[in-house]
Amino acid sequence: MLWLAFGPSHAMENQVLVIRIRIPNRGAVDWTVNSGPQLLFRDVLDVIGQVLPEATTTAFEYEDEDGDRITVRSDEEMKAMLSYYYSTVMEQQVNGQLIEPLQIFPRACKPPGERNIHGLKVNTRAGPSQHSSPAVSEVLPSNSLKKSSAELKKILANGQMNEQDIRYRDTLGHGNGGTVYKAYHVPSGKILAVKVILLDITLELQKQIMSELEILYKCDSSYIIGFYGAFFVENRISICTEFMDGGSLDVYRKIPEHVLGRIAVAVVKGLTYLWSLKILHRDVKPSNMLVNTRGQVKLCDFGVSTQLVNSIAKTYVGTNAYMAPERISGEQYGIHSDVWSLGISFMEPLQLLQCIVDEDSPVLPVGEFSEPFVHFITQCMRKQPKERPAPEELMGHPFIVQFNDGNAAVVSMWVCRALEERRSQQGAP
Ligand code: ATP
Ligand code: MG
Repeated sequence: MLWLAFGPSHAMENQVLVIRIRIPNRGAVDWTVNSGPQLLFRDVLDVIGQVLPEATTTAFEYEDEDGDRITVRSDEEMKAMLSYYYSTVMEQQVNGQLIEPLQIFPRACKPPGERNIHGLKVNTRAGPSQHSSPAVSEVLPSNSLKKSSAELKKILANGQMNEQDIRYRDTLGHGNGGTVYKAYHVPSGKILAVKVILLDITLELQKQIMSELEILYKCDSSYIIGFYGAFFVENRISICTEFMDGGSLDVYRKIPEHVLGRIAVAVVKGLTYLWSLKILHRDVKPSNMLVNTRGQVKLCDFGVSTQLVNSIAKTYVGTNAYMAPERISGEQYGIHSDVWSLGISFMEPLQLLQCIVDEDSPVLPVGEFSEPFVHFITQCMRKQPKERPAPEELMGHPFIVQFNDGNAAVVSMWVCRALEERRSQQGAP
């Protein structure tokens, strides 16, 4: 099974999985599974059937980090749920927190009968293999265990961010104008990424930047980095965003095409979302594509505030290798220019490999990459802006269509493995 071959952590494969089955208005039943990653959708339905014998359950739901309910109806969706859950476990382990059970909510069921709720003992049928013989261990009250992350997001997004509540930890990186820190937000207990930029500007311009950043509160896409707030202290602005534990794409080498494909899908969706809000990214490049161990890919550092972009540009030189030719020659910037940068960002791994294969050769390594991938990049990098694919053409391109399957597990496994490798190279335990 894929999971066993590429699980995010070998330790996790052997970890006991506790699934907390929530029963409407009544509480919950904990089910201990000895080998979670191999669990099938059918096994879970079987157990739900025994916990709620009078109900007809055809699916169940779990909650993502925003408190949104995600439905599970197949083994594929089970895999995505488990991958998401194991990444939260990893996060909890890293932060030294208690490991929470995986909570699921049976769906489309008639209300269960009175019986079998207190002092419940369920004898489950033996599943298709020994790992799925569950043991119901306890009954819990129905009150929520912790503040939902959706609530947390609201609190964070209420403009209540300030310097006093933030404890700066590691430096995540320096860019052309700012430094990004991993930080701890004391009131919420949440880890953030805070970008600090020195700007010697008037109070008036500071206000203008703050109001231009307002639109970030409205950005609500799983392909765009979450924004928690911004504030000025003296001559520096701090911009607080969601922390992505996989970091940016520029530090990953040799990304296999089936992973790169899924990343490209997320980037195209993120850009399409921004364009739909009439926002041009203006700085598409691998260091502004962030990944996490949940397999999510999100865009950051897009130019919502003209004033911020201008203020930074006054201090720092603003050209880079990802910029479209028309931008370098000072012509008009448009969606097409973002598309160029998208193409060149994904061309980089090709080039890296090409250098390894043959330093002088200007052609792409034959047979190394699929024809749709090479075509996608070539189209994005047409010299004439108008010849590059428009947003809907990007989404319909065979390379994007091929990998548009919502399989976050592929990216999640790859990020987890790369992080593990990095850790072991650095000699960490
Ligand atoms: P530039 O300033 O030219 O855009 P850059 O993108 O490399 O270059 P920064 O935006 O300052 O520079 O980011 C520095 C580094 O911090 C990034 O390369 C990335 O690895 C890391 N980083 C940025 N935002 C986050 C985040 N939200 N979560 C985790 N790491 C981040
Ligand atoms: Mg950046």
